[in-house]
Amino acid sequence: MNRILGSIVSLVQHLATVFTDPDVYRPAACPHCGRGGVWHHGCYHRKADRLNSAEESLNPVPVRRFLCPGCWHTCSRLPACIPPRRWYDWFVQQAVLLLLLCGASLGQCERRTGRPRDTVRRWRDWLRQRSDEFALFLRSRFPELGRLADFESFWRHVLEDVTLQQAMVWLDKELVVP
Ligand SMILES: [Zn+2]
Repeated sequence: MNRILGSIVSLVQHLATVFTDPDVYRPAACPHCGRGGVWHHGCYHRKADRLNSAEESLNPVPVRRFLCPGCWHTCSRLPACIPPRRWYDWFVQQAVLLLLLCGASLGQCERRTGRPRDTVRRWRDWLRQRSDEFALFLRSRFPELGRLADFESFWRHVLEDVTLQQAMVWLDKELVVP
């Protein structure tokens, strides 16, 4: 999909780049029809900052939008620090998934991370459902993952050594994530 810009890893870096070097977000081609030369088309905003207090919040965070002169669809690319279609950032998701992979129950995970049980369950089921597909691509990029046969050790290794954010940046080149 190539929807994520892997080199932009923090919101502060993203905010600076949006204003000083917006062309880095321009897709090489329209994801709908494949035509090159998409135009700048303003911004939309995400409430991507979930760490800072209201006074220090970076929200709303602008995301550059582009318009295809061929099919008139709009498109955008996100920095690595803002997950597509997810409310929480990758590091929160990673902390929850690591606890689960280390044997914590849904209830323990909810108590220790403060994330609702339904959210924890959804992330757990997502990783189980997509694991085979993700593992295929991750193993081709990180050969050392090839010898880890079982689900838990494979994903613990990915989250600890690669990080979920960088794994998703890599997978985004080939697949739709998350
Ligand atoms: Zn198009």
